[in-house]
Amino acid sequence: MEVILADYLGFCYGVKRAITIAQENASSDGKACTLGPIIHNPQMVERLRNEGVGTVDELAEMDEGTIIIRSHGVGPKIYAEAKKRGLELVDATCPHVKKAQLSAKALVDDGYSVVIIGEKRHPEVHSIFEWSDGKAAIVETEEEAEALHSCAKLGIVCQTTFSGAKFKQIVSRLLEKSRDIRIQRTICTATDQRQAAALALAAKVDLMLVIGGKNSANTTRLARICEEKCLTYHIETAEELQDEWFDKIEKIGITAGASTPDWIIKEVYKKCQNR
Ligand code: SF4
Repeated sequence: MEVILADYLGFCYGVKRAITIAQENASSDGKACTLGPIIHNPQMVERLRNEGVGTVDELAEMDEGTIIIRSHGVGPKIYAEAKKRGLELVDATCPHVKKAQLSAKALVDDGYSVVIIGEKRHPEVHSIFEWSDGKAAIVETEEEAEALHSCAKLGIVCQTTFSGAKFKQIVSRLLEKSRDIRIQRTICTATDQRQAAALALAAKVDLMLVIGGKNSANTTRLARICEEKCLTYHIETAEELQDEWFDKIEKIGITAGASTPDWIIKEVYKKCQNR
């Protein structure tokens, strides 16, 4: 059986960086925590906990210690609140996300009505919204863009992991909303690369295994993309592999979301090779 890894898979730059920063700030006394899970991968969150980095959902849960901001980032109020509480803040916001946040802020400061193109419930979009001083409109579909009122000055930023094709379609609907438009295409290439590589691989294998948290939006999107080309299973760990999946299969492709640790990818790869 041939097992092929996608050209781009697993941790992106921003996630790797955030995990390294978290590990560097680990503490044996339980006083270092990330605000929200560092990534959407329960195995990695558990491993970090064992290394001395816990998780809290709100700053109010901490009276002292170090709070680590994950790659999705947070709004300015969190920085102020951490300071007020006397917490040490370690910022692992991905620099690409930071750029989107600061772009939103700069546009608001320059008097632009800001539109964030992205998924309303995504924590990164929420953080960009906070940097717009709560003034931005969040738009996820062409219909929502169409429904916006015209304005004198319109500024556009984007969720870093948003689809490039969808961004283009939505922007085309926004172009008629103002005569003065500034577009910041704050999309990160990591997502595009992973999706393109998954699609190319799915087209030439009999079965695709997509590895990553079931709660990870980018992993689920990879699985949907692969499903269009071949039989696909979305798994979190090698333990989920089932013998009957591999009947009459000659070529297996493997990809993984941006929040999937290397060690889990290796385990799945090895198990497939040993079949
Ligand atoms: S997907 Fe891109 S923007 Fe998001 S954390 Fe990874 S490198 Fe940063």
